[in-house]
Amino acid sequence: MKLLEDKIREDGTVLPGNVLKVDNFLNHQVDTKLMDEVGKEFARLFKDEGVTKVVTVESSGIAPALMAALHLDVPMIFARKHKSLTLTDNLYTASVYSYTKRVSNDISVDKRFLDPNDKILIIDDFLANGQAVSGLLEIAKVANVEVAGIGIVIEKSFQKGREMIEEAGVRLESLARIASLDNETVEFVTD
Ligand code: 5GP
Repeated sequence: MKLLEDKIREDGTVLPGNVLKVDNFLNHQVDTKLMDEVGKEFARLFKDEGVTKVVTVESSGIAPALMAALHLDVPMIFARKHKSLTLTDNLYTASVYSYTKRVSNDISVDKRFLDPNDKILIIDDFLANGQAVSGLLEIAKVANVEVAGIGIVIEKSFQKGREMIEEAGVRLESLARIASLDNETVEFVTD
């Protein structure tokens, strides 16, 4: 998505450890018009998949997931993060290791919000090693819901997430694909 790539080139900063900082339009301050376009693009890509709900993880996935859900005209659910869960009877849960924060969190979705008739679209802001997406796929499996696909705003294609998703046989659509962040420079995948 050209608009997104231009924004990343203009406003993104590369931090040590292969981290792209985009807190001025995605991860802290949110560019609402850009997010609307992101949502429209996800809706265009997945409109024929019979999506009934969009699912993400709080907090950075919420902005793109909300816009995608709005354009698909379905509800959006964000899995909540907890340090560790004790009372889990009413929850679907999974454990997720955060690449940027280097901690594990449990994520959960209340059982009331997913049922076996649902077909979900998983959305997240970044795909790195695929831990967040794995957690959501695990929740989908336990909840017995079908996964229509995965939509990612920024994929770091040099990390393992894409491979993991392809092995799982799930459709993946990333709006920007980064080939490298070497020398503090963003290089996009050209195909
Ligand atoms: P994964 O679970 O795929 O390893 O990492 C995905 C999560 O880590 C995303 O939800 C995002 O919050 C965070 N993340 C991973 N890499 C980056 C990055 O380069 N920049 C930012 N801002 N967040 C990242």
